[in-house]
This record gives sequence, C-alpha cells and structure tokens, in this order.
Amino acid sequence: MPRPILATIHPAALQHNLARNRLAAPDAKVWAVVKANAYGHGIERVFEGLRSADGFALLDLDEARRVRELGWRGPILLLEGVFEARDLELCSRLDLWHTVHCDEQIDMLAACKTHVGHRVFLKMNSGMNRLGFTPACYRSAWARLNALPQVDEISLMTHFSDADGGQGIAAQMACFSEVTRDLPGERSLSNSAASLRHADAVRASDWIRPGISLYGSSPDHPEHWASEWGLWPAMTLAAKIIAVRDIAAGASVGYGSRFVADAPMRLGVVACGYADGYPRVCPNGTPVLVAGVRSRLVGRVSMDMVTVDLTPVPEAGMGSEVTLWGRAANGAVLGIDEVAQAAGTLGYELMCALAQRVPVQVAD
Ligand SMILES: *Cc1c(COP(=O)(O)O)cnc(C)c1O
Repeated sequence: MPRPILATIHPAALQHNLARNRLAAPDAKVWAVVKANAYGHGIERVFEGLRSADGFALLDLDEARRVRELGWRGPILLLEGVFEARDLELCSRLDLWHTVHCDEQIDMLAACKTHVGHRVFLKMNSGMNRLGFTPACYRSAWARLNALPQVDEISLMTHFSDADGGQGIAAQMACFSEVTRDLPGERSLSNSAASLRHADAVRASDWIRPGISLYGSSPDHPEHWASEWGLWPAMTLAAKIIAVRDIAAGASVGYGSRFVADAPMRLGVVACGYADGYPRVCPNGTPVLVAGVRSRLVGRVSMDMVTVDLTPVPEAGMGSEVTLWGRAANGAVLGIDEVAQAAGTLGYELMCALAQRVPVQVAD
C-alpha cells in the first residue's frame, strides 16, 4: 500500500471560482492565471475546470507549451514576456501573447524576423516598482512598439501592489488612467484582490487576471475568508492516522518536546510532514480536521509525520482521515488560509509548495 497521503484537486471548485470571478466582472474577459504549475495544482489537472476561461496567463514557456498540448487554441499570455530573443520564435510558433515590460524586450522584437504580428501587453510600473515602464517612459515605449512592423496589437496593463489592503489602488489607478487616457487597446488591471474588492478597477479592465481566487484562497485573508467571498477550495491535502497513542499529563510530544500535555490525552500520528509541503513552522494549535471534526496540531512538524489531538474525536483511530487543508469527506472545510496564517504566510505559498512526493488525484 502506498503511504496514506493524498492531494485532491476539485474541478467543480475551479469552475465555481471562475464563475465567481465572472460575477464580479461580468463585462470582462478572464485570464485564468496558471503560473507556477497552476499554483501547485498541476496545469493538466486544472485545465478542464478552467477551460471556460477566455485565456491562460503564465510565465514559463514550457508551461505555455503544455497548455497548447492540452488542445487549447485560445489566447495564452506570458506575464513576464520573453527572457531572450529566441523565445520570440516560440511565441510565434505557439501563438503566445506576451508582456513587454522593458526596453530590451522592445529591442528583441525590433530585431526579430517574424511573419505573423505579435500581440503584446505593454506593462506600466504604476507604483509596484517591479516590472514595467515608468509613467514617464510609458508613452514613448508605446510609440516605439506601435511603429514596429513585428507588432500587431498593443494592449495596456499594470499590476497593483495593494489591492488586498488598506492603501488600496486609487493612486495607481489614477496614474494608469492619466497616462493611457487616449491610447487605444484593451486594458488589463485586476488580479484576484482587485477583481473582488475594487469595482473601479474591474470597470477599467477588458481582461481581469485572477489567480489565487480561482484556487479557492481568499486574496485578502484575514479581512475576508474564502467562504465570505463564496470561494471553494480547489485543493484538499489529506492523510491518515498511522498510529494512536495515549499519553499522561506532563508527557511531551515530538522533537524539542515542544508540546506538553496538561492532562491525559490521545494522540494521532498522521502521515504528513514538511517533506510533503506542510509547513514546519506550524505552531501547536494549528487547526486540522480529524474525520471531519476540528482539532489541532500538537508538537513539532517532522519530515514525514505530524501529531494531532484526538480529544475532540474519540471515535477516531488507525486509518482515520486527517484533512490538513481543504474539504473533508463529511463536507467540512478547513481553509488553506487558516493554516497559512498559523504558519505566518499565505495560502499562495502553501499550495505552490505541495511536494512532488505527494500523490495527486483529480476528483470527479
Ligand atoms: C500572479 C499574477 C496575477 C494573479 O494574482 P493573484 O493575486 O493570484 O490573483 C495577476 N497578474 C500578474 C501580473 C501576476 O503575476
């Protein structure tokens, strides 16, 4: 028997979450962001659930090729554009749209011999200070691209730094609108947080670019839980109890004796550890579901195992299901955001870090 741990991808949840984004942006087209192997879910595994998207956005050429191999004939956008000149050949061959964020990428386009015109998304750095042309340089970059015979169509994009938080997007929105005011072309502004929280960004977007919300994690946890946004978890990580142990008051558990029982208690040892992608930093008390009932982690996470408190679930024993995040067999949900918060990080990082050794199934 293989080790009893399993990740499950839920196509119905992906479909539902995509529909939730369309509800927030009924007039916009949707780039389903599937970078980082679909945020750890697997491009091949999410494709069916997301195939009603208008396009797929990612940043690895190999991932773009995989989306084409799945039979996708619609738009694919490279969110970071090309990394070297010969990538442009692949853009032509695979019919990829690509972001242009720097002068060097315009140089590469100007030098390339291409027969089919390229579709580019010209990126503005409106305050994030990562990729993109500054507002002062944006219009001249547009003019340069517009004069190239290699370029067929130019769309305009920017990315928000604070769509999920208190600072918001007003300054970046104002900057983008001002600079692009009379430029033709489609606009793409909104990640998940902007799509769900900022109607003004959605109104200004011909294309929204949700990622995290498609996978059922809240873009602004803990201000809003995924359930408050009406999002369903697209990934469940579950394992089984492989040993049960009764310990006395005062006994300690695991490396460093981090947990000490204050009363006699039953523990379950679960076949999931940090080598599976469960964060080692999770403290005592991190929530888990045991047979669908909420309980807690006790003791340090080790490479292949964690220990959980069976007190709230006396009927649990060898072979009982433990849900580390996602949906239990009885329908109970433990949001990945709650586990991420306990670990001091975000749902993004946990889903992307699901380890290679964990077997993955796609639910019906
Ligand atoms: C990753 C990414 C997104 C998606 O962001 P989420 O917060 O996951 O919705 C959108 N746009 C760009 C440019 C990205 O790199």
